[in-house]
Amino acid sequence: MAHGIPPDEQQNYNHFLDCLSEPILRALAIPSDQDSDLRRKRRGRKERRRGKGKKKGGEEEKGGEGKGDEVDSGVGEMVVGTEDRRGDGDEGEEEGEQGDDLGEFIEFLSSQIFPTLPTPLRTLTHKTYLTSNKLQTLYPTPLPPTTISHLTTHIPPTAIDILESSSLLPPQSDTTDVQNFFTPVLNTYLTAITAPPPIWSTTRTSECELCGRGWIPLTYHHLIPRSTHERVLKRKWHKEEVLNSVMWLCRACHSFVHRLASNEELAKGFYTVELVREGGKDGEKRDEVDGWVKWVGGVRWKSR
Ligand SMILES: [Zn+2]
Ligand SMILES: [Zn+2]
Repeated sequence: MAHGIPPDEQQNYNHFLDCLSEPILRALAIPSDQDSDLRRKRRGRKERRRGKGKKKGGEEEKGGEGKGDEVDSGVGEMVVGTEDRRGDGDEGEEEGEQGDDLGEFIEFLSSQIFPTLPTPLRTLTHKTYLTSNKLQTLYPTPLPPTTISHLTTHIPPTAIDILESSSLLPPQSDTTDVQNFFTPVLNTYLTAITAPPPIWSTTRTSECELCGRGWIPLTYHHLIPRSTHERVLKRKWHKEEVLNSVMWLCRACHSFVHRLASNEELAKGFYTVELVREGGKDGEKRDEVDGWVKWVGGVRWKSR
């Protein structure tokens, strides 16, 4: 259990952690020398900057872009919470060290930021949201810029400093930069915690079908993205009955898959779970997929 998070907020905290990890994993998951430099720098900074109390950010009300990373046509990417589970049991892997570091980093940031959210947002569930007009009015999806602005004002300066020093925010970030970074995080978080129980439960797995991590919320990915369905049928690439095949992925892996190939390429070469794992029909992305799985699987989350 995460330190300092009350038991009744733990589930939502896990969602927050997952939502915050997505842009960070996406931005920092570059297995290159440059990246390890960055990581080293970040570590040093993180230690030095802890406890520094510079006040940041004004009351400026500027909107962020409500832009998530969904590349599917946006429909049906439902987020499903998994029950709290123990860690993934991935002990003692040397190659996990890098990811471990990053896991700690994300965990630290989450533990700094999550408690600054107002109580209703920390305790909100599908049920309470559904039955309270007040909460729905207070926190509509997507969140309006004014609400984002308000919520981000309370993010501690230490967290902002860390984001700046790890290049997740520009060096001298202003309130707009902060809002732009947190808008998708807060919106996916709100969507995740208020999501209804799954409709698609038949094929649902309890672990991400790519990285195998189990406790995190899963999203479903259309193996043949919806935007391609018309063309797929017209050109007879696939039969109609397989159009809605899905793969259950954690957010990080979901983003990874969409970065790997365009929707049309996905439809043509990555239309089964096995094909995604194998890096496509001709295996042309095999190294990338293997590298990613090894890397993301090494991101361990110490607090549970
Ligand atoms: Zn995954
Ligand atoms: Zn998808």
